[in-house]
Amino acid sequence: MNRKTLSVICAAFLGVALLAGTVAAQTESEINAALQAAYAKYKDLQEGKNADYIPALAKVDSKIFGIALVTPGGKVYTAGDIKSEVSIQSICKVFTMAKVMEEQGAEAIIKTIGVDATGMRFNSIVAVEWSQKLLNAREINPLVNPGAIVAASMLKGANRDAIWKSLLGFYSDFAGRPLSVNQEVFKSESDTNQRNQAIGYLMYAYEWIKSEPMRATDIYTEACSVNVNAKDLAMMAGTLANGGKNPVTGKQVLKAENVPGLLAVMAIAGLYDDSGKWLYRTGLPGKSGVGGGIIAVSPGKFGIAVISPPLDDAGNSIRAQKAIADISNALGGNPYAVKK
Ligand code: GLN
Repeated sequence: MNRKTLSVICAAFLGVALLAGTVAAQTESEINAALQAAYAKYKDLQEGKNADYIPALAKVDSKIFGIALVTPGGKVYTAGDIKSEVSIQSICKVFTMAKVMEEQGAEAIIKTIGVDATGMRFNSIVAVEWSQKLLNAREINPLVNPGAIVAASMLKGANRDAIWKSLLGFYSDFAGRPLSVNQEVFKSESDTNQRNQAIGYLMYAYEWIKSEPMRATDIYTEACSVNVNAKDLAMMAGTLANGGKNPVTGKQVLKAENVPGLLAVMAIAGLYDDSGKWLYRTGLPGKSGVGGGIIAVSPGKFGIAVISPPLDDAGNSIRAQKAIADISNALGGNPYAVKK
């Protein structure tokens, strides 16, 4: 090879390397810009109010507003308050469902609970009656309270303590750090938990739960009380965006084969009875909690989370919905959109 050919080849390599570098750098700054823009746009938005049917949630600072995004490569982008913790609430249902899938396989969810949207509120009893009496089938899902309490009853372990430790460890593997329970929220919710207890007994009466319905309800309630910040939630979502492998710790938390089913149920039921509207606007599987968090997953691209406690009438954080939709749309996160 003569000198001229060699220098042409070197120049070509350099060009490609520079181009790749530019694209990567641009993407990073684009992501940062999208997060900062959404933060600035919605920081002063005064709409909605904290959940108050669980007394401790009414006391949480409504001004908390944190955004975090995690890529499959393990890069973490943040804006606003990513230190303040809130209780995970209904977002935990995704990870309890994931644990049941790990322990018993994906079919167990379909057979025992169902994977269909109820179209009703998250703690609807009518949804159970509808499935039980009119359809005579298992046609709810693990992301509404009745299905989540059934999922909690399916967890494996020698006793309550063993089941709980294993569940909290599983959540922590998703977050990439040891999570803990907000005892004030757990007590507050336990003291006012009569409706969920009624749901637990109903599911037992209809034999969706095989034994100890109050133990399942209590585990469900403790799971809802786990504290998280926006970065924890984004890491949990990022693990789902990365085929079940935590992008920072490298641990395969959930089998890759279980991820699509989990995301499918998030898509149909993650934002309660507004799941359709959310999917229409973003195309993203998501999950919200009455603590003010929302996670969303763009498979292979990113996991994102926003925390902001004020909720709309359906129980979804207002700022979180808006910020995630803006950021995802800016970054081409909608998996249904084909780029030409
Ligand atoms: N712990 C809450 C409940 O059971 C969770 C509800 C939610 O976040 N939607 O009511």
